[in-house]
Amino acid sequence: MTARRPSSDSPLLTARRVVVKVGSALLVDQEAGRLNRSWLESLIEDLVRLRKRGQQLILVSSGAIALGRRQLGLARGVLRLEESQAAAAVGQIRLAHAYKELLEEKGITVAQVLLTLEDSERRRRFLNARATLEALLALGALPVINENDTVATAEIRYGDNDRLAARVAQMTSADCLVLLSDVEGLFTADPHMDAGAELIDRVMRVTPEIEAMAGRSASSVGSGGMATKILAAKIAVAAGCHMCIAAGHHRHPVRRIEEGARCTWFVPGATPIAARKQWIAGTLRPAGAIAIDAGALRALQEGKSLLPAGVVRALGRFDRGDTVSVIGPDGAEIARGITAYSDTDAARIMGRRSSEIEGILGYRGRDEMIHRDDLVILQTDPKPPQPIEAAS
Ligand code: GLU
Repeated sequence: MTARRPSSDSPLLTARRVVVKVGSALLVDQEAGRLNRSWLESLIEDLVRLRKRGQQLILVSSGAIALGRRQLGLARGVLRLEESQAAAAVGQIRLAHAYKELLEEKGITVAQVLLTLEDSERRRRFLNARATLEALLALGALPVINENDTVATAEIRYGDNDRLAARVAQMTSADCLVLLSDVEGLFTADPHMDAGAELIDRVMRVTPEIEAMAGRSASSVGSGGMATKILAAKIAVAAGCHMCIAAGHHRHPVRRIEEGARCTWFVPGATPIAARKQWIAGTLRPAGAIAIDAGALRALQEGKSLLPAGVVRALGRFDRGDTVSVIGPDGAEIARGITAYSDTDAARIMGRRSSEIEGILGYRGRDEMIHRDDLVILQTDPKPPQPIEAAS
């Protein structure tokens, strides 16, 4: 069950975009309250390798509170919320500094991004955060993300970076998420208590049974624990992203996973794009509709994006980021997609070339009204409707 798998099919090697989450217990020496520098150097070597292979990378790093608390004389005991926030304010700057120093030595530009729960739950903020991360990746920078602990209050706080990392993976359509933690993976029981506990190396579906195992499994000392890792897994696989829980305390923790070290992989049923499209197609009530002309209809059927030029009308009220119906020239709904413009902006730019958008709206938005990755052509049923048989 725990045999090493050949490494060539590891999602870590085949992924286009990888999110790696590093827990506080790995980064910070709990006794000294200092950064585990040599461990971090070995992690960074792994990350450099990954980027050299052409993979895009985002790092989600905890450790701000753990690094900052000693500095403020808060070394012992449970912190009150405002004390953790103060510790985070002191620790985050140290954390960012360490990443900058170590990554820039390797020629990598590092970008600090601090997110709150609202940035991933509120649509407009989600879109903004996503656009910023996309821009950073396109420009070759390495985003290093943490929760914005200093402003997040108890109710609007993730509190753990496992779910934050899964949201980041979902937001950026990453295909692989690695949670480096102080546990080797998901066990059938607590391995410290039960000699028969076995590591599960692959989870194809997060069933209630798997969730129950998380309760029994060895819990990590970070704020996450196994329960939040399972919640993270649910978010990741629903977004078409592979997720791995692995022990991170060895040097070169990412390379070890590539080489087949023991860990638990959560396997999604679809790719990130397919998962996103399923979600769009399944929207129960599109916010509004966009009517298109025959030329745009042909373009969509060929797999192209919907440009403002092909739009003839915006119907209903919708905002940027809403799911809308796309209506063909005969009035039938032919597709659904996420619009890049609100109904009012759509009405102003319809029928116009993309190069004119900035002049009309005063800002430079996307060239497409609906990008093809955000668009699903609805399958029409070729069969005539079947007569309904009376239930016996
Ligand atoms: N955001 C917290 C920090 O940087 C850590 C949360 C976690 O442990 O997952 O200290």
